[in-house]
Amino acid sequence: MFNLNNLVRENIRTLKPYSSARDEFQGKHSVMLDANEINVDFSNSSTNALANYNRYPDPQQLQLKKAIATLKNVDSECIFLGNGSDECIDVVYKSFCDSGKDNVIICPPTYGMYEVAANIFNTVVRPALLTQDFQLNLYEIEKLADKNTKLLWICSPNNPTGNSIDRAKILSLLNSFNGIVILDEAYIDFSASASFLDVLNDHPNLIILQTFSKAWGLAALRLGMAFASPSIIKVMTSVKPPYNINAFTQDHVLKCLGMQDLVKKNIGDIVQQRNSLAFALERYSFVEKVYPSDANFLLVKVKDAKVVYKYLLDQRIVVRDRSNVTLCDDCLRITIGSKSENQMLTNTLNNFK
Ligand SMILES: *Cc1c(COP(=O)(O)O)cnc(C)c1O
Repeated sequence: MFNLNNLVRENIRTLKPYSSARDEFQGKHSVMLDANEINVDFSNSSTNALANYNRYPDPQQLQLKKAIATLKNVDSECIFLGNGSDECIDVVYKSFCDSGKDNVIICPPTYGMYEVAANIFNTVVRPALLTQDFQLNLYEIEKLADKNTKLLWICSPNNPTGNSIDRAKILSLLNSFNGIVILDEAYIDFSASASFLDVLNDHPNLIILQTFSKAWGLAALRLGMAFASPSIIKVMTSVKPPYNINAFTQDHVLKCLGMQDLVKKNIGDIVQQRNSLAFALERYSFVEKVYPSDANFLLVKVKDAKVVYKYLLDQRIVVRDRSNVTLCDDCLRITIGSKSENQMLTNTLNNFK
């Protein structure tokens, strides 16, 4: 049986979290002398750029969470917000992994931060390579797991391979794995497969990560989301820095949430561009394979990745060289750009010899 308490680090289980001034009351009061802020009137300054940022932001991000809860059709208590998904990843390690004792399983080739964060937390990484068709190797994962295996990281659609992971295999792991399964859905909006959000309540060991950096086009604001049971969210919240989401980000994302139609249109355009770019790339003699993609990038195997990469760079086009990554020999990862950017890419490749 799943028991969250057995997975949370002991010092976190007994932690008395920092209680900020703004945790202790809600709403607007007229005289706020509780947080050592200054109350300066910037309205006469030549620029009012400084205005409205003299107060600390809501540490619980209640308004923003409420709006995201509506958007995603989950309860507010099931949402954790991080300074990018990167902070969500960090907070997961902080919550569950005892330095020098615990281990985690990752499934390479995949997003690099799972391993970097493990190294920062001095947590052993046990790699269970994806199969040749970039799917989970259940046998290998089950073989690697022991009583100190706290986390299993799955990325779907996966970066850098672009494919979605078989839903049945993820479900099977959710039922059999004794630690926490983190499912990173950073690219889910570009995917034909469904998110796992609709089965979140069925799986007490599941954390789903999503982000505003990709489909929403708000990478600079740094806003990542983690969805999980209220008990997991409570643990993660207890270890986060109190004011981790700044006021500008909270305000701006709230406004952007009203622009869903535009976001959906952009996603549709990118998916269309992805499909035509894949078609165009497949016809070059130096392209050996364009892998099927459910994301906003393509993994492309070429004859000599270093040479193509260098050629593009000399023509001032930057792609990601993934040729040193396991199972990705001679592969480049190419983000789907705007129509004109993609055209510049193919025009440039037309002259590659
Ligand atoms: C881009 C990306 C993210 C997003 O990270 P942020 O910190 O939210 O910008 C998360 N996971 C994967 C796999 C990604 O490729």
